[in-house]
Amino acid sequence: MNAVTEQPAVPVIIVGAGPVGLTTALALARHGVRSTVLESKGTLDPHSRATLMVPRSLEIFEQLGVLPALLAQGQRNDAIRIVRAANRKLLLRFDFAPLAAHTRTPYALALSQDRTERVLLDAVLQTGLVDLAWSDGFARFEPGTDSVSVVTAAGRSITARWLVGADGAHSAVRKQLGWRLQGTTYPTRAVLADVRVAPEHDTMEGWLADPQAASFTIAVRFGNGVWRLIESAVPDSVSDADLPARAQQLSGALFGPGAWRETLWTAAYKKHERRAERYVGGRVVLAGDAAHLNSPAGGQGMNAGIQDAELLAQALAQALAAPQESHALLQAYEQARMKAFDRDIRPLTHAIEAMETAPSWLRKLAFSSIGLVRAFGVEAVVAKRLSMLS
Ligand SMILES: Cc1cc2nc3c(=O)[nH]c(=O)nc-3n(C[C@H](O)[C@H](O)[C@H](O)COP(=O)(O)OP(=O)(O)OC[C@H]3O[C@@H](n4cnc5c(N)ncnc54)[C@H](O)[C@@H]3O)c2cc1C
Repeated sequence: MNAVTEQPAVPVIIVGAGPVGLTTALALARHGVRSTVLESKGTLDPHSRATLMVPRSLEIFEQLGVLPALLAQGQRNDAIRIVRAANRKLLLRFDFAPLAAHTRTPYALALSQDRTERVLLDAVLQTGLVDLAWSDGFARFEPGTDSVSVVTAAGRSITARWLVGADGAHSAVRKQLGWRLQGTTYPTRAVLADVRVAPEHDTMEGWLADPQAASFTIAVRFGNGVWRLIESAVPDSVSDADLPARAQQLSGALFGPGAWRETLWTAAYKKHERRAERYVGGRVVLAGDAAHLNSPAGGQGMNAGIQDAELLAQALAQALAAPQESHALLQAYEQARMKAFDRDIRPLTHAIEAMETAPSWLRKLAFSSIGLVRAFGVEAVVAKRLSMLS
């Protein structure tokens, strides 16, 4: 075993250089607070994963000064239009423009997560206030009275006032706290595939959906000619090796024959709706997937984590300046973010899962009465919910 060596104290240690860890480090730096980020991998994750940022996240990124760099790389969507793949007729339109009265960013941004992380990383490094340790993960923490020490996988010991666990769904920080992600894992297994389609099929009309397929399928554009296909419930008999062929098949069904050019990435996953029983334990705080997990449908996963990061950085900066207020500040963070999950994210996740896994005859019936949905103003309500501005 490596000998444990002492390091000078830093105000905050963040475990994980995913979008949540990086946003926390950047937001702390904007408050003038130094941090050390520990990341077990040697570099950023190269996969596209979350491809949509909602108005509330963009508001945060504007405050953090990275919005221009993100806008330069992504595609701005003033509204999300979902059209029926078979005839390109409009099914649903979630318009963000009416939110202009409430936000300076009344639009969503389509950008792959690896590129979002790259923008965040560049901004973090430019602050000069963040030490980023690649390939040196968190091993365990040792609580102190007004500090916390972290022992890294390489055997270093670093002491800080606060420790943030932004180390994802399998968070080692959360596990040491003894907390589990409580809630539901849906029985269905979903498949995503990023594909490149031929230019003549790269329509800007909107996202393509086939609501009548045995399993609800949708195609979401997030780059020039690049689309994310999501099939919401596939049988367990479909193996990982079958996924590229399935992506090609799905492309044909959604875009038409001859549209498929290349499969860039595929993944099969279970969908969850879970959160930790607590987010704060002494001087250790959870954020992002370490604290809560939900289905990627509705795009609330990474976006919720970014909102955790912003609020947490504010609470930690204030707690460092006024230690006697620490308890109240961190409790307020925990309460606000748990409430956001329970009140907004959990019901949306349930509703989308119910729609996606309803029998196809029921979905057919529901989508054939879509005019009614429009007449009752449901689209505006959903747009507000998706924006996460509440
Ligand atoms: C296939 C797939 C598709 C998805 N699609 C969407 C989508 O369409 N929309 C959406 O909103 N969300 C989506 N998500 C979810 C989204 O990617 C996550 O919500 C987001 O990445 C959470 O960010 P995070 O920073 O909390 O965690 P992560 O991104 O998981 O980052 C955690 C980081 O911590 C590091 N780490 C782990 N353990 C340690 C340790 N012991 N020491 C140091 N570092 C450690 C990891 O290497 C990682 O870099 C998808 C996820 C997957 C896997």
